[in-house]
Amino acid sequence: PSDPAARPGTYGATPPTERLQAPLLVAADSRFSATRRQLGIGARMTDFGRTVIVCRMHHALPHGGVAHECFGYERTLAILPLPDAVDTLDATDSAGSRHLCSVVVTAGAADAAALMALPADAFAAQVQAQFRGRLGPMQLDGERHAYPLVAVYADRFAAHRCALLGDAAVGMHPVTAHGYNLGLAGVERLTAALQTARRQGRDIGDQHVLAAYARTHHHNAWPIYEGTNAIVRLYTDARPLPRLLRQLVLQGARRLPPLQAAIVGQLTGKPPGWMQSLAPGRPTNLQET
Ligand SMILES: Cc1cc2nc3c(=O)[nH]c(=O)nc-3n(C[C@H](O)[C@H](O)[C@H](O)COP(=O)(O)OP(=O)(O)OC[C@H]3O[C@@H](n4cnc5c(N)ncnc54)[C@H](O)[C@@H]3O)c2cc1C
Repeated sequence: PSDPAARPGTYGATPPTERLQAPLLVAADSRFSATRRQLGIGARMTDFGRTVIVCRMHHALPHGGVAHECFGYERTLAILPLPDAVDTLDATDSAGSRHLCSVVVTAGAADAAALMALPADAFAAQVQAQFRGRLGPMQLDGERHAYPLVAVYADRFAAHRCALLGDAAVGMHPVTAHGYNLGLAGVERLTAALQTARRQGRDIGDQHVLAAYARTHHHNAWPIYEGTNAIVRLYTDARPLPRLLRQLVLQGARRLPPLQAAIVGQLTGKPPGWMQSLAPGRPTNLQET
């Protein structure tokens, strides 16, 4: 609308759709958000041309609450600890499994299709082998789910009377297993911005109110998003130079505590000032919609 402030909540409403009135629309409808598109907000999408398989697995040895990332050139494997599945313990389970983890396998499309088609035991054997048996015998617990691997970063996180949240704002590559946390951090930041506006008696749909959310969330999310994509590119490139660079990065991270602290700070939402200043200003550049 030409004057959205005069007619709040009318974005994208076309007959026979019911027209609802609200001071603020929050879109949290996934990285392929239809609402984002209806709002006219673009997004930069990076299609890695790969597929992610997600499932739960039982394993014999305890994971100790430690997450693992295994970077192979063909497949990437993430083993993410879950609470022990005492309730689902199967007394006939020959492996004696009672520990549980979430498994994320990233593979090329054909390889992923083949993995999805494998019987459960054969699939489990492949995961167990890639993890070099560190958790002992592993067994599939439930269904495998396959997702196309596309990372998404919205051009803006907010506009007048609307804000993007969760994957609709930032859809991460899952290798760092951080997308959900980032989404929750976004909820916290948006809530804080709205509460401040309410306390000050301001309109919660005002673009300047929402700019506070867009700015802080972008400054935290952008380094994580770009850093994750850089890691993925580095660890899936088998050429000699990227291999060498990878070794240097690993050794550098081990020997440079400030770098480690900066990474942890960014992931926990408390980044050092120099990292915040790295983020470009694009998504905070609000315009009337
Ligand atoms: C393969 C994979 C593995 C991942 N692993 C991890 C991990 O280990 N750790 C981690 O922190 N994060 C992980 N993530 C990221 C995490 O899943 C997402 O960041 C999180 O689910 C995003 O939540 P969301 O609510 O924004 O979007 P979604 O979880 O995508 O939910 C969007 C919801 O909106 C609904 N919806 C869509 N359109 C409409 C509509 N028109 N009307 C009503 N409802 C609608 C959808 O049905 C869906 O329920 C992973 C992601 C993927 C793809």
